[in-house]
Amino acid sequence: MTDNLNQTAQQYDAPQDLLKDKVILVTGAGDGIGKTAALTYAAHGAQVILLGRTQKKLEAVYDEIVEAGGARPSIAVMDFRTAQPDEYQNLANSIEEEFGRLDGLLHNAGRLGERAPIDQYPVGTFMEVMHINVNAQFVLTRVLFPALKQAPSASIVFTSSGVGRKGRAYWGAYAVSKFATEGLMETLADEQGEVSNVRVNCINPGATRTNMRAAAYPGEDPESLKTPQDIMAPYLYLMGEDSSDTNGQSIDCQSK
Ligand code: NDP
Repeated sequence: MTDNLNQTAQQYDAPQDLLKDKVILVTGAGDGIGKTAALTYAAHGAQVILLGRTQKKLEAVYDEIVEAGGARPSIAVMDFRTAQPDEYQNLANSIEEEFGRLDGLLHNAGRLGERAPIDQYPVGTFMEVMHINVNAQFVLTRVLFPALKQAPSASIVFTSSGVGRKGRAYWGAYAVSKFATEGLMETLADEQGEVSNVRVNCINPGATRTNMRAAAYPGEDPESLKTPQDIMAPYLYLMGEDSSDTNGQSIDCQSK
């Protein structure tokens, strides 16, 4: 089942208007995979909300979308490390006021933390990585749920990793946070499942040419890696209506 689904998602050829009139929020939209996902969703007709912690980067993505003829995006500057509950709630309120609904939520922002063994892992970094990679996703999902329920058919996509399915030495808090992400996805998907308009899945990008990958593997030749553009088919598949029956799955963007 998962192999078939991976294949369908990886080979998905999205129609140009796949996401027409859909309102989609992307976290970590200023750089790396999130930036490319935001550009790609906008190019397929979506009205995107760009969330990230660095305003300048978000503005550059905004300009790129407008120059390409996409719908004028919204920008939400938010740092998950420090954001308080009222900041999340204000964001949800403004989405409900402006759009009345949310059709898609891509949880993409993430922090690598340190590569170190657990018995020497810096305690503060562990807590910070768990907060950014897990707690923030929970709070954002929770406050945005009413807007997602207003959409005719909504998709939540969490971002996992190979180290979120099989523990690997020295990946520390990052690996633990990705296991938790899979758990959050599965729990929520099981709750919504048959009874809801909201489907919930995970995506695992696989090795992709970004700053985070370069920080994790400084000796690696970036040219040997897929680019974010190369892996967009599953990101489109999960946001569009062709995946409306897919729930509780964890999809790989690259075959092993
Ligand atoms: P990047 O480091 O290139 O991008 C991460 C994004 O998250 C940036 O836009 C960054 O903002 C944002 N971000 C980081 N911290 C915060 C914060 N505290 N608050 C708000 N936004 C924040 O990483 P990738 O594009 O590689 O990673 C995207 C996702 O894919 C992550 O969840 C990662 O774990 C996952 N992944 C990536 C793989 C890869 O090989 N690249 C493999 C497997 C999983 P800013 O630019 O402003 O710092």
